[in-house]
Amino acid sequence: MKLDSMYQEIILDHYRNPHHKGLRDPFDTEVHHVNPTCGDEVTLRVKLDGTGADAKVVDVSYEGQGCSISQASASVMTDLVIGRTVADALKVQEEFLHLMQSKGQAEPDEEVLEDAVAFAGVSKFPARVKCALLGWMAWRDATTQVMEGQK
Ligand code: ZN
Repeated sequence: MKLDSMYQEIILDHYRNPHHKGLRDPFDTEVHHVNPTCGDEVTLRVKLDGTGADAKVVDVSYEGQGCSISQASASVMTDLVIGRTVADALKVQEEFLHLMQSKGQAEPDEEVLEDAVAFAGVSKFPARVKCALLGWMAWRDATTQVMEGQK
């Protein structure tokens, strides 16, 4: 797999120096997601403040192991969702999902995706798309569970 070298640097930087890593209290829900095709794992906690789509993502903490793409993507994801409302964070998640499903055809929006644009090239490699999505899907699952529990 060959990625643009600047993008490669961003991914390796997040892999070596992950942001917001480590499981923290307090939290509302914890989930564990695995990507069996690659062996990646992530345990992720979310803490929301408020209810519904206007709730604020106060914290997202995680532990994980696996390939550099899965772990770096989880790190980038925490930067993009913490401090946002659930509604805004879901918009970013959908934008990233769209990019990952584009098979290399989408033009990533750097304003929205920031460091996550580095994964654009990964979308050309179907086997690795699940690696890049692992942390995001875990976050979405955990957040949905918290919101369901509030009803
Ligand atoms: Zn992987």
